[in-house]
Amino acid sequence: METDDLARIIDDYSDVTVTTVCSHSSLQIFHGAKKEGLKTLGIAVNRPPKFYDAFPLGKPDEFILLDSYAELMGLKDELLARNSVIVPHGSFVEYLGADKVVELDVPIFGNRGVLAWESDRKKQREWLESAGIKMPTLIEDPTKIDRPVLVKYQGAKGGRGFFIAKNYDDFEQGLDPTQEYNIQEYVTGTRYYLHYFYSPIQEEGYQLSKGTLQMLSMDRRDETNIDEMYKLGSQEELKRLGIYASFVVTGNVPIVIRESLLPKVLKMGEDVVEKSIELFGGLWGPFCLETIVTDQLEFVVFEISARIVAGTNPFIGGSAYSEMIEPNLSTGVRIGQEIKMARDTGRLGDILS
Ligand code: AMP
Repeated sequence: METDDLARIIDDYSDVTVTTVCSHSSLQIFHGAKKEGLKTLGIAVNRPPKFYDAFPLGKPDEFILLDSYAELMGLKDELLARNSVIVPHGSFVEYLGADKVVELDVPIFGNRGVLAWESDRKKQREWLESAGIKMPTLIEDPTKIDRPVLVKYQGAKGGRGFFIAKNYDDFEQGLDPTQEYNIQEYVTGTRYYLHYFYSPIQEEGYQLSKGTLQMLSMDRRDETNIDEMYKLGSQEELKRLGIYASFVVTGNVPIVIRESLLPKVLKMGEDVVEKSIELFGGLWGPFCLETIVTDQLEFVVFEISARIVAGTNPFIGGSAYSEMIEPNLSTGVRIGQEIKMARDTGRLGDILS
């Protein structure tokens, strides 16, 4: 959205409504907004999802019902009339499509300019590597596969759309030649999904060139079937039975990292934000670095998510880290606080796009 249009729209946004699609981390987003005294609005398809009745503190005040998510693009007037701020999450971007999110004429929490850098794997690598982040090595020539690799198809997501190969034969057998792919080294180590929050408007805390960075929580994803495969035998054996490794996320497990690694964790977040300011005006709000820590205690980042991730859901009541910032602070509450703080200080233009 053009800066002038945004400024005009939010000029009379005194009574903000936190709005999101009813999926992914919506319970947490609504719970946090309600705790901060903000109005909430859920967008759902067909009928109000019944599961919210089981969790009344995470249920939005109202629903808008659509026949399909594509209709969201036509909701502009209705959403603006309610002073809506859309809090995007992974499912929101997936259901609507990154291009459409960029076009949506309703204020979004966070910088929609990040989508161009995040959704293109090459640009994402350019951003992170230029910030000094180590990423898995890319292997250009499949005949040169000399270690376990992941073959990832363009647009692979949700743990689908890639396979493990240990040599060229595996690669040839597994490949769907009709799809674009990249080959990256399979990094051995332990996975940590690091949940940060960057505020350009809060001054106290871990300071950056402008604003402050928080480490709110960490999780590890439960991925089926890879996480339980070892119980049945080696992957080679299982392949003979027609069972292949997949990485479909089914849930999230809370985790903490050894304390001596925390300075590196914060420095990585800091470098990624500073580079984003330089490249595209900043990455504000929640974001997640998806990392593998090797036995050399080195972080390798295989992906960034530039918004709230579902891995923050175990922490609706707070995490070991957020507890040391403020009791019971979840990412959802922190989003609500940021919107309220910006609204009350006339700085909504600094946190919306
Ligand atoms: P992604 O779709 O990139 O989020 O990856 C899904 C899952 O694949 C991750 O959660 C990891 O378990 C695994 N993974 C992705 N990239 C790598 C890598 N380079 N090395 C090892 N495991 C990886």
